[in-house]
Formats: sequence, C-alpha cells, structure tokens
Amino acid sequence: MSPALRIEKPSQNFIDETVIRTHLKAAERVEADRVRAVIAKARELKGLDMPDVTALLQCSEPALLEEMFHAAREVKESIYGKRLVLFAPLYISNLCQNNCLYCAFRITNKNVRRRALTQEEIAEEVLYLERKGHKRILLVAGEAYPGEGLDYIFKAVATIYSVREGKGEIRRVNVNIAPLTVEEFRQLKACKIGTYQLFQETYHIPTYKSLHVSGPKANYEWRLGAVGRAFEGGINDVGIGVLFGLYDYRFEILALLQHIRHLESVYGVGPHTISVPRLEPADGSFISEHPPFPVSDLDFKKIVAILRLTVPYTGIIMSTRETAKMRAETFALGVSQISAGSRTNPGGYAEGESATAQFQLGDHRSPDEVILDITRMGYVPSFCTACYRLGRTGADFMDLAKPGLIKQFCLPNAIMTFKEYLEDYASPETREAGLKAIRKNLEDIPSKERRLEAERRLLRIEGGERDLYF
Ligand code: SAM
Ligand code: SF4
Repeated sequence: MSPALRIEKPSQNFIDETVIRTHLKAAERVEADRVRAVIAKARELKGLDMPDVTALLQCSEPALLEEMFHAAREVKESIYGKRLVLFAPLYISNLCQNNCLYCAFRITNKNVRRRALTQEEIAEEVLYLERKGHKRILLVAGEAYPGEGLDYIFKAVATIYSVREGKGEIRRVNVNIAPLTVEEFRQLKACKIGTYQLFQETYHIPTYKSLHVSGPKANYEWRLGAVGRAFEGGINDVGIGVLFGLYDYRFEILALLQHIRHLESVYGVGPHTISVPRLEPADGSFISEHPPFPVSDLDFKKIVAILRLTVPYTGIIMSTRETAKMRAETFALGVSQISAGSRTNPGGYAEGESATAQFQLGDHRSPDEVILDITRMGYVPSFCTACYRLGRTGADFMDLAKPGLIKQFCLPNAIMTFKEYLEDYASPETREAGLKAIRKNLEDIPSKERRLEAERRLLRIEGGERDLYF
C-alpha cells in the first residue's frame, strides 16, 4: 500500500466527547417517569434520540430495566418475528502488523503460530462449512497480507464463491478486514461482497491510543472514517461495532449513536448491522483477561435492549464469543444474526481449534446443535441472502425493513432456506423439530397468497430445487 493513498483524505472526527459527557451528566439522576416515557416512545418503532438513549443508559433500577427488556422483546418480535439469521466466520489469516493489546494476533505475541491460508486451504474450509449447511460467511483477517497484498483478500472472496459441492454453495460473503482507501473499497465491492464490517473497538480517544500502540490501527481517525470511505467506494451495506469491556459502555453507545447519525446525514443511510463483541480472554493478553471496564451480564443485556429500542431496523449481531445461555437471553432482546459452530483460527474448521486462535469462544456447539436449540426456543433459523442478491441493500433495504414487509419477504425466505437445511444437512432430530416449526411459522405469513406460494415452493425444494426466494 502506498503511503500516498493512505493519506488521500483526512478523516474527520465526528465523535463529540463534550456532547456525550453533557448528556450523561444531565441524566445522572434520571426520573422513573422519564424512563417510562422513553420506553413508550420506543414502542412506536421510530427510534430514539441522544437524550432518550442517555436516560435509558443511566437507569439501573431493576423494575425499570425489566420494563426496558419487555419493550425490547416486543420491538424485536414485531419487526423481526422469529427469524434468526445464521453465518460462520472464516479466519483466513492471523498475520498482523498491529499491536492491539487485547488480541492474540497482535504483532508482539510470539506464542501464536502465524499462518495465512492458501487459496486451496480456504477452499477446504469453505467445503467444511458448506457441508454443515452454511450459506453466509464472514471473512476475517489480520492487517497484513501475504506477498500479493490486498489481492489475497480479493482472491479469497472469489475462492469462497467458487466452492460448490452438491447442493452446497456460499451465497453471501461479508468481510471484516482493516480499513481501506476509497479505491480499495471500490475493488472490494467489485468482488461482490455483502457487508463490509469494521468495529471502532472504542470511540474514547485516550483509551484507543493506549490500546493500539503501533501499526496503522494506531490512527483513530483513519479507522473512524473507514465506513464513510466504504460508502464512497460504492459499498452501501456496512456494519459497525464496539468491543465492549475496553471503556465505559454508556460512553460507547452514545458515540456509536453519533457515528450512526453521521452516516445517515452524510450518506443517507445508517449501518445495516451493529456487532456487540464483548472482550474475551486472548493468548497472553492481560487486557483481555482483565477488561478495564468489565461489562456484567446484566449490563450486556441492557446494551442489546437499548440498541434494539434505539435503532429498531438495524440488525444486531452476536457471535460465539458469548455462551449459549447469554446468546439465548439476548436473542429475545434484539439480536437478529448469530454465528454458529465458529472457529477463530485460520484452518480451524478443517483441522480443529489450535494455538493460532484469536480469542476463546463461549459457545462450542456444532451448527446443528445450535439450530436444534434455537428451533426448540421457537426461532426460525434463516440462511437467507435474498436482499443482497436482489439489490435490496442500503436505503432500499431500510425501506423494506418495516414490520409488515419483513413478514412478507423475510419470513417466507427464512422458512425456505431452513427447509433447504433440513433437506440437505440436518440430523434426524433437528429435521423433525424443524418441519414442525415450519408448519407453525407458515401461519404467520400475513398474506394468504404469499403463504400459498411459499407452500408451493417448499414442495419444489422437496423435489430438489434450491435457492428460491422472494
Ligand atoms: N484485523 C481487523 C481489525 O482489527 O479490524 C479485522 C479482524 S479482527 C480479527 C476482528 C475483531 O475481533 C476486532 O475488530 C475486535 O473487535 C475483535 N477482537 C479482537 N480481540 C478480541 C478479544 N480478545 N475478544 C473479543 N473480540 C476481539
Ligand atoms: Fe490485528 Fe485486528 Fe487483532 Fe488488532 S484486532 S491485532 S488489527 S487482527
């Protein structure tokens, strides 16, 4: 990467710490009536503004928290229904030039065995994932690419899409890699990626600077401007996030909201997803073993609930960093996408977990076990990729993401992709539970016509057809 490209456009810092502090101070002793008024407003599904969100963040009264959780469950249910979208992360390389003190891939960690998968090895990983039924992959890599540079990533995306075996195929590749220039984002977009995902980690500058001590990632503004550059490079589907545990979660949520509002005002659309990773133990990292601002389970649920109420139409992603129990509790509060059966070490699917992993996982179950569990909990596992492939992304997706429409499009698509899974990959137990769930959920498709068409398509899937969607 030429340094000239890297400084092509100075990134602006649109996070205003003074405003955040002022809001937090003003709501320090928030009244119960005010919290209830915000909860009532959130039920209208129009989202919340900064003072509203601060009121919720500053509330710790157990009875009010319960009311907040109740409202979040309602909002989740009314917009997303019972769907839960599934994906698998694919770590292709742990080479990294940065020194993020919480991550096992940091350059100074000598315990980790460095490895960038070859395209053949990537294909093997993809085959493994396809055989488990996955259709959506999140490609993940550290910030250092083998000899060919960024082409390595572009080739990897092409490799992932090219691997097909029987009925197995990957229909959407999302990408979580280090910030790029506008031109590089344009090239990434040309690879037909789904979402470009990047977490700011912490929006608090002193904390950021103390944790990212060398390498390109030490530049806070370069990272903060990345999602904007992705939009400018033509990627209109982006995901953002915070690594919780590094700094005060109340500050982070308000800064995240400033980030969202900035994207909406400049690019006309906010992020498609928000990820909520919580710091997990990583090899030899004191910070990850002892988070500076540990987030309790209760606060973590509060974070998910507040996000659900604040940006009701933005997806929330939960990874297998969390335990099965915490995942189950947060699904109801607002999570809409989950990973399953994950490995965070390059080569981890074909070869198993090893000393090349990024951090410890909280949920070690296989995809089929996760799918059976969530089906029994009343959810419909979805492998749907329709919107992205029909161009319903960015602002177009947001127009579609209204309660009625989600039930018209996403629910039947979830049912059909789940049916494919049951036909091709499920264990007998999952298949039985799944078929029952499909019968029940068909009744929730609001229009009779759409329901009948979905039933006809389910028969076509039984007959061997695949990849049918609305
Ligand atoms: N290297 C790129 C970057 O840092 O943006 C992308 C890949 S990085 C492996 C993906 C994410 O992993 C980071 O953004 C960070 O939030 C998360 N991560 C790093 N260390 C972690 C830990 N100990 N626990 C949980 N998540 C962690
Ligand atoms: Fe590298 Fe990303 Fe890990 Fe930082 S978080 S050390 S940039 S892989």
